[in-house]
Amino acid sequence: MPPLDDSHTLSPADRDRLVALDRAHVWHPFTQHALWNEVDPLIIVAGDGEYLIDADGRRYLDGHSSLWCNVHGHRRPEIDRAIIEQLGRIAHSTQLGLASPPAIELAQRLVEIAPPGLTRVFFSDDGSTSVEVAAKLAYAYWHHRGQPQRDRFINLSLAYHGDTIGSVSLGGIDLFHRLYRPLLFPTLPAPTPYCYRCPLGLSPDSCGLACADEVGRLLEQHAGRVAAVVIEPLVQCAGGIITAPPGHLARIREACTRHNTLLIADEVATGFGRTGRMFACDHERVAPDLLCLSKGLTGGYLPLAVTLATEEIYAAFLGPIDSGRTFYHGHTFTGNPLGCVAALASLDIFAADRTLEHLPTLIESLAVHLARLARNPHVGDVRQWGLIAGVEIVRDKATREAFPYARQVGARVCHHARRYGVILRPLADTIVIMPPLCITPANLDHLLLTVERCINEVLPAIETGTADGLE
Ligand SMILES: *Cc1c(COP(=O)(O)O)cnc(C)c1O
Repeated sequence: MPPLDDSHTLSPADRDRLVALDRAHVWHPFTQHALWNEVDPLIIVAGDGEYLIDADGRRYLDGHSSLWCNVHGHRRPEIDRAIIEQLGRIAHSTQLGLASPPAIELAQRLVEIAPPGLTRVFFSDDGSTSVEVAAKLAYAYWHHRGQPQRDRFINLSLAYHGDTIGSVSLGGIDLFHRLYRPLLFPTLPAPTPYCYRCPLGLSPDSCGLACADEVGRLLEQHAGRVAAVVIEPLVQCAGGIITAPPGHLARIREACTRHNTLLIADEVATGFGRTGRMFACDHERVAPDLLCLSKGLTGGYLPLAVTLATEEIYAAFLGPIDSGRTFYHGHTFTGNPLGCVAALASLDIFAADRTLEHLPTLIESLAVHLARLARNPHVGDVRQWGLIAGVEIVRDKATREAFPYARQVGARVCHHARRYGVILRPLADTIVIMPPLCITPANLDHLLLTVERCINEVLPAIETGTADGLE
């Protein structure tokens, strides 16, 4: 590691060396490397609260919480200290056949704050594995209950549950998932609640939540064959910040209860305050049968995930050693103590800072900015749940026509924001706004004004076809 000076800058020589090595060896996720080398990669060397600091010492507002995971800011002393203290004890020991205090304490704390009925905590490493675990638990649960024919899953179109094969099976984003179809298990997709482009051709004020009712209809059609319904409650984030109308989640819960099937809530992105409450399910008093958590779990510090289950699901796995009921699943770094103490420290900060109580003011201010952006001629739709927002840019506001993917409108707008000290990453042409919950009101203003300014500055060149490169 090259040394950093006090202001966290690298020497130009060290920086250039790292850029060359990145180009030579690092394969970045979700990245077209034929284009990556056209611009100098931004190298983040440090963080400070809601800021990221690059190799030249420039500070950027972390507008997407380092991909939706940072909660209380970077280098929070309480979390840093908890990790350092744990390093003084042990960095890792296994959960297979052994127990450790941080995982025990964290399991208890999570059960305490989770929706009612979730009493058992299975640890894994990331969002994808937490969903894999939930899907396998759901299938095995019915098997152990004498209903092995329940091998189908209902998901939503445009769903995203991670990048491993099982979670990709449950996904529905063509751009990411289409190629792998032959490798995936089939699902029964229900329509996404994407009101701006309603797949049922209906309008939100008169549809009566027809898309949610479609889940009930599928359950009826496949009676006794569905293991679980899998959803991202309130917001399908990776699908393009698709916000479900109020009542959507509760309606799907009712359908699952009525048809006696399991509900898996994937709160990997929405969990830990992003929607304004600790969990998205809390908004509609919904208790899922399985709950997946990751991104914000450790305050966004370390890879850690959990799948919470009801006592009833857990009990179905009990039996003699040769009963075939053991859950044969586990990852090497499952329940990692460093991740668990970071998660415990993050939960302590929620209490000490009264994080959730500060959110309504920020959420209201975000709504005001979005209302103004909605009138922008380039903006087709704005969507918000809590501190999660999406601004969808369109070619034609009247027809809602989108730009061709190759124009990379979202990417250009976000790249432009760097010159104003803001880091953003889009989903196609939707600008994603997901700041850390600790963002100051002034910085939230700066973030939204920057989004608006960048749209206004970048779109004319794109429309006339004079935009070049990503600069
Ligand atoms: C990010 C995400 C995942 C996948 O999590 P990873 O940690 O990237 O594996 C799963 N579900 C949702 C809703 C997510 O946003």
